[in-house]
Amino acid sequence: MDANKKWLSIPKDIRSQLIKNVFCANCMDEVTIVGFTIEDDKHGIVLNGKCQQCGHQVTRFIESE
Ligand SMILES: [Zn+2]
Repeated sequence: MDANKKWLSIPKDIRSQLIKNVFCANCMDEVTIVGFTIEDDKHGIVLNGKCQQCGHQVTRFIESE
C-alpha cells in the first residue's frame, strides 16, 4: 500500500485530529501542520509539512497497526 492510501485509510475524524496535533519546535506547542506531503515508512507513514503558525518545518509520524 502506498503512503497516500495508508493515510486515506485512517478515518477522516482521526486524520483531522492528527494534523491539528503536531509538535512545533519553534512554537514549543502543538500546532496544525499545513502543506504537507505523505511519505511511506517501514512502521507507518510520515507527514512532512509546515507549522500553520510560524512556517517552521514540522513532521508527524503515524504508526500503522
Ligand atoms: Zn510553529
